[in-house]
Amino acid sequence: MTLTHLPIQQLLEENKDHECEGYGDDHICVSIAAIAELPTRFGDFHIVVFHNKHDDREHTALVRGDVTDAEDVPVRLHSECLTGDALGSLRCDCRDQLEAALKAIGKLERGILLYMRQEGRGIGLVNKIRAYALQDYGLDTVEANLALGFRDDEREYSAAAHMLHSLKVKSIRLMTNNPRKIEDLTRLGIQVNGRIPHVMEPNEHNQFYLETKAEKSGHLIDLRGHERLTEQHDRPVVQGMSEAQIEAIQKMV
Ligand SMILES: [Zn+2]
Ligand SMILES: [Zn+2]
Repeated sequence: MTLTHLPIQQLLEENKDHECEGYGDDHICVSIAAIAELPTRFGDFHIVVFHNKHDDREHTALVRGDVTDAEDVPVRLHSECLTGDALGSLRCDCRDQLEAALKAIGKLERGILLYMRQEGRGIGLVNKIRAYALQDYGLDTVEANLALGFRDDEREYSAAAHMLHSLKVKSIRLMTNNPRKIEDLTRLGIQVNGRIPHVMEPNEHNQFYLETKAEKSGHLIDLRGHERLTEQHDRPVVQGMSEAQIEAIQKMV
């Protein structure tokens, strides 16, 4: 680990009374509240916890290596998904996406995973489970998508941009399958020098994505034939997909 005691103390000191006009239309402001080493099964990281005193949310950056003043830092944004990340749900691919990102970053000299505490991309756990329930009753797409209709990507990206600035990252390369997300971050003042495709290893749970019917009419169909709601910012790309399939998936977003 290359982040040493001194810069950590500096970051904490600078953030102690931090207040700014905020990022994005909602003027999101976060500040670094705590930092510690976090060895994980994917490699050694520092965990940097941010606090937004206006909405009381706590976001996390998992930082590998020294990213201060660094260029082209690989960055992955992940939205909290309790059911997938922690409980191993197969209704989404969040855990596979999270593990793929951590595995990739863990092999690099430096990189950042931003873990955004906005369950279901801001709709909250209650609304997410309600959308699941609607799917259970076969009310599939319309109602379920309506329930998920007020996903708030803007707030999430504003917080992410602020976090990257607080960490003093000079420029990044975004790990995503959604090129449009680069524009969103750029608009918020982040220097994005490129995109790293985010590709998951195939396993028994995401194998069906490799079948073309999974992308039929612009929808992803899960193992039970239900339409799958995308909880992360990215449509899934699994090793073994054809170029045409990846292109189709990118257009869906
Ligand atoms: Zn601020
Ligand atoms: Zn999920």
